[in-house]
Amino acid sequence: MPTQPIVIIGAGIAGLTCAVYLQQAGRNVLLLEASDGVGGRVRTDLVDGFRLDRGFQILLTAYPEAQRLLNYSALNLKPFRSGALIHDDTDGWMKFLNPLREPLSVFQMLTSPVGTLSDKLNIVSLLRRTQSLPLEELFRQPATTTLTFLRDQGFSETMIERFFRPFFGGVFLEDELRTSSNFFEFCFRMFYTGDAAIPALGMGEIPAQLAAQLQPDSVRINTPVARVSAVRSSGDEVQLASGEMIAASAVVLAVDAAPAARLLGLPEPTVADFTHTTCTYFAMPNEHKPVVKKGDKLLLLNEKRSGAVHNLAVLTDVAPDYAPAGQSLVSVSTQGLDRIDETALTARIRQELTGWFGESVSQWRHLRTYHLPEALPAYGPETPTKPLQLAPGLFQCGDQTAYPSLNAAMQTGRLVAFSVNSPGGEPQH
Ligand SMILES: Cc1cc2nc3c(=O)[nH]c(=O)nc-3n(C[C@H](O)[C@H](O)[C@H](O)COP(=O)(O)OP(=O)(O)OC[C@H]3O[C@@H](n4cnc5c(N)ncnc54)[C@H](O)[C@@H]3O)c2cc1C
Repeated sequence: MPTQPIVIIGAGIAGLTCAVYLQQAGRNVLLLEASDGVGGRVRTDLVDGFRLDRGFQILLTAYPEAQRLLNYSALNLKPFRSGALIHDDTDGWMKFLNPLREPLSVFQMLTSPVGTLSDKLNIVSLLRRTQSLPLEELFRQPATTTLTFLRDQGFSETMIERFFRPFFGGVFLEDELRTSSNFFEFCFRMFYTGDAAIPALGMGEIPAQLAAQLQPDSVRINTPVARVSAVRSSGDEVQLASGEMIAASAVVLAVDAAPAARLLGLPEPTVADFTHTTCTYFAMPNEHKPVVKKGDKLLLLNEKRSGAVHNLAVLTDVAPDYAPAGQSLVSVSTQGLDRIDETALTARIRQELTGWFGESVSQWRHLRTYHLPEALPAYGPETPTKPLQLAPGLFQCGDQTAYPSLNAAMQTGRLVAFSVNSPGGEPQH
């Protein structure tokens, strides 16, 4: 009799990672995915020849879990330039480059109006501090909010307002910088030691690369799971929304926070348990490119956080295949302002960008808007890490169990695969 499969619910990055490691260990896996494709929050839509990631996001190549599992050269990663171009209503554009990655920029950095000289020295000591700790210890430190941490480190309010808030507000998808300082230190280290990159053909290439390693019949899409029951004498069972019952030798919940709560019979998370973002894409004729040339391969940030434009990226400067020939793809991210409807938001973005780049913005074509109310699980200093094993034969993984990052999704997926495969063994963190 064939052994019952290990059933993994959810084919996001965590579920795929778990499945790949289990299959590498020779285990029989069945991945059940509710939506019409794999990738979860990391998917790319093809719209009129443009590749639209479902929300602006990047892979930090220094992520240890990504280095362990992904084939970077096959992904054909295209890096952003390290740093940012910051827009300020009074001073115009200010460049902030990473002096470790672009050594000559240190002179530019010293004269840049983004922070004081002591801020620049603080950056160097922050860098030393974040590099010195093993990653696991970094996450075990007593945490505070990122804002408190930055003030405690002696950064000036100007540096916080001009650089940290716009930059990390865009990473955390919240501008108050209430996210845990430990996660801030982790991100800071990753940004400094590796590239921020996108695959040449879109972020969706990452889950596609993982899924390609699985047996074709081990993934079922359009298959929402309605119920999980652990009946140890006869094995576990999951019930699909269609009513079909599937027997399992173990069950892994690799779903996002809200369905995880539903499947486990826990209270539903609230709006405050997530950070949210809206990503608006525009097609820009290539001849308009000079107007945004200053930001060549740099992320553009708006210091004024009350605006609708928080970060902007000309994705085709970094990865030309994101658009058809002759066109550039611009992504604009907005944190908050969630009650503005799509038409009003698009008009407001155009108006703000006309102030930045001039009248040609009126000719940019709106392609699509992605509103992501549950983009990331909120991760404050008090947020507990969740257990990966819930009962004998029942496990969970995903960023909602740890911290909001692709690295966490992959790490928890790997750790759960190890626990399922080697009960009682000591996994390598
Ligand atoms: C806009 C945005 C920007 C981001 N930027 C970055 C970034 O720059 N860098 C970074 O590291 N991270 C970023 N992230 C976070 C990163 O994408 C997530 O941490 C990661 O994708 C989470 O993966 P996961 O597998 O844990 O969850 P998910 O991707 O949410 O996967 C869960 C899967 O479970 C499925 N599912 C749910 N319920 C059921 C059910 N009942 N039955 C079957 N299947 C079900 C879902 O359809 C989904 O496919 C960003 C996220 C967003 C949304």
